[in-house]
Amino acid sequence: MVATAPETSAIEELRAALRGPAIAPGDAGYEEARKVYNGMIDKRPAVVVRCADAADVIAAVTFARERGADLSVRGGSHSAPGFGTNDGGVVIDLSPMRGIRVDPRARAVRAEGGCTWGDLNHATHAFGLATTGGIISTTGIAGLTLGGGIGYLTRGCGLSLDNLLSADVVTADGQFLTASERENEDLFWALCGGSGNFGVVTSFEFRLHPVKDILAGIFVFPLDRGRDVLKFFREYIQTAPEEMGAFPAYLVAPPLPFLPDDAHGKTFCGIVACWAGPIDKGEQAMEPIRRVAPTVGEMIAPMPYPTINTLFDELLPAGLQQYWKGSFATELTDGAIDVHAEYGPKIPTMNCAMHIYAINGACHRVAPDATAFAYRDATFATVIAGAWPDPADNEQHMRWVKDYYKALEPHSSRGGYINFMDADDQERIRDNYKGNYDRLTKVKAKYDPDNLFHLNQNIKPA
Ligand SMILES: Cc1cc2nc3c(=O)[nH]c(=O)nc-3n(C[C@H](O)[C@H](O)[C@H](O)COP(=O)(O)OP(=O)(O)OC[C@H]3O[C@@H](n4cnc5c(N)ncnc54)[C@H](O)[C@@H]3O)c2cc1C
Repeated sequence: MVATAPETSAIEELRAALRGPAIAPGDAGYEEARKVYNGMIDKRPAVVVRCADAADVIAAVTFARERGADLSVRGGSHSAPGFGTNDGGVVIDLSPMRGIRVDPRARAVRAEGGCTWGDLNHATHAFGLATTGGIISTTGIAGLTLGGGIGYLTRGCGLSLDNLLSADVVTADGQFLTASERENEDLFWALCGGSGNFGVVTSFEFRLHPVKDILAGIFVFPLDRGRDVLKFFREYIQTAPEEMGAFPAYLVAPPLPFLPDDAHGKTFCGIVACWAGPIDKGEQAMEPIRRVAPTVGEMIAPMPYPTINTLFDELLPAGLQQYWKGSFATELTDGAIDVHAEYGPKIPTMNCAMHIYAINGACHRVAPDATAFAYRDATFATVIAGAWPDPADNEQHMRWVKDYYKALEPHSSRGGYINFMDADDQERIRDNYKGNYDRLTKVKAKYDPDNLFHLNQNIKPA
């Protein structure tokens, strides 16, 4: 399909059908509206529709489809490839749609498609409840859930998508459908991991778990103990209680008071830990981590659950250059650890990260074909997240990500987590879904036969 740009008169017509603003080139706020989180993306859509409600979403989807325009859908805008904007097409921006209703008796929450994890955690924390979300508060619930959803609560509560009870969706033909295990089951199955391929989710209903205050923080170890830390982690996380969400990381130390002054700006290996159970038992569960090696510093404290979700926020403001790669692994082999010991210490800036998330526990209790997320045998989801402020550093930082990822390839599964893929990973899509890919293409053919929703990690219609 060759996309065409909508004309000015057509945008006027669209405006008349909307409650929210439609921002076009020349309008006040256009320069801001066209941007996404990744500062590397510099695109100029014909119109950004800031949707006020599902009716606006229906109008914008219909508008883009009838005119054969490219269509981007934006929730929290965190997509590393910058799928939330385009050149000359339509952008559906859900950021004004942030309504949340917690039902404490049913232990469920309904949240609109523009919510961030910060919004959702704030709302549910008041009731002593939470569900699995990401580790940064500004990431959108939409993109993160539709691709999987890995975070501190994953081992105990499953992926974000494992907690999805239902979703309201505007499909490519402009219909409004509710998808759950009881209605439009095929669509629901595909939404649980199939990313933004199947329609615009206007609201999500999640299962909640009793999580209020947690014991959490970070242990920082000397760089030369990196191998020991990773070897410890691969054993520890196999049997650690499922209340423990922990991941090892390479990091350039920020100037934080719990670290000695001469450590600031230096590179270390660390373990970030979050215990979502009784606090006294958490101390016990953290003890083996503390004993891995003498720490350079540690900051472990009881805190409200939403606080851990903001731990890295300041390091990752909007507008940084972003380039990411990710892979799954069933085992953290000695070979993989050698690669980490070589490339982890080369981490170029404070904003970059290499994290190895554990996705065992509750994730492993779901069958690989029960949701579109196929890698239920993987225990580790590795992300090499390049993020840096200066475009002049693009080549050098992207090289670090690419070389690190390439070196890990022989020690990883063929596929990786769809939400850690970048724009140059489209050829990996079949591998990322393994045995679920063909079924996804059939669901795509049913709900989006013309591939209107193609600006994403794209699953082509069968
Ligand atoms: C700083 C940072 C931290 C992260 N941390 C984590 C983490 O801890 N755990 C984790 O699992 N992932 C994490 N990620 C990856 C994250 O899951 C993906 O970037 C995800 O796509 C972001 O969702 P979003 O709504 O913010 O992004 P967007 O750019 O708005 O959307 C991403 C994709 O989802 C589609 N989409 C968005 N909204 C909708 C909707 N309402 N309906 C249908 N499709 C939609 C878009 O079209 C696009 O393809 C992180 C990313 C960043 C940049």
